Amino acid sequence: MRFPFGTIPKRQAVDAGTDSVAVEGEAVAYALRRSRRRTLGIAVHPDGSVVVRAPLRVSKARIREFVAGKIPWIEKARRYFSRRPPKAAPPGYASGEVHRFLGQEYRLVVSRGRADRVELLLGCLCVTTKADPSEGRIRALVEGWYREQADVVFLDRLAVCHRLLAGEAIPFPALRIRKMTSRWGSCSSAGRINLNLWLVKAPVACLDYVVVHELCHFKVRSHGPKFWQLVARYMPDYAERRKTLNADGGRE
Ligand SMILES: [Zn+2]
Repeated sequence: MRFPFGTIPKRQAVDAGTDSVAVEGEAVAYALRRSRRRTLGIAVHPDGSVVVRAPLRVSKARIREFVAGKIPWIEKARRYFSRRPPKAAPPGYASGEVHRFLGQEYRLVVSRGRADRVELLLGCLCVTTKADPSEGRIRALVEGWYREQADVVFLDRLAVCHRLLAGEAIPFPALRIRKMTSRWGSCSSAGRINLNLWLVKAPVACLDYVVVHELCHFKVRSHGPKFWQLVARYMPDYAERRKTLNADGGRE
């Protein structure tokens, strides 16, 4: 990148390539941007990538030292982005509202009938209710249906992902599904995986990412480079899946 008169405009940053710093044998890669600023700055993007902003004449060694000191903070930021469902207004429960199931959109069709029933029909999520179709009632029926689907789909994907990681010899975990507001999944030292019910709205590729992520925690607990290397070994496109998940998947 060239600038007139060989100088860099005050606010403009120059792409100075990428670099990485290794701490205890684990590497953190980052993009480096230089500009006429006075201090070092660092940012973690929602996809987990790291960008370091530096003054023009600070040495790469000094920058590496700076990044090395920020590793706990980088891990915290990555954890924040990987687990935080976006806050979006949940759909309503009147006919015509759009609801999601495994990444697909379905229009809600509410009708009265002789029995309570929820089913997918011709691109619609059809809810039949024998009682007054109040919003609370339709919500309860739809949520019950999501739970039934999640019970089947999540266990199926857990089996698929567990087979994918067969080489890691992880004991098959117990599965618990519940509504969570601040994370997509978690795991316990007792060998259980907890998945957020609302993952049932996300594409299967995103659900698989969360399952693989939690399975990998049985081998590596923290979100250090070793952890992400393990995830990448079995799911090379995990960052893309995580991005999709946090952008538009799975919300209530
Ligand atoms: Zn994690």
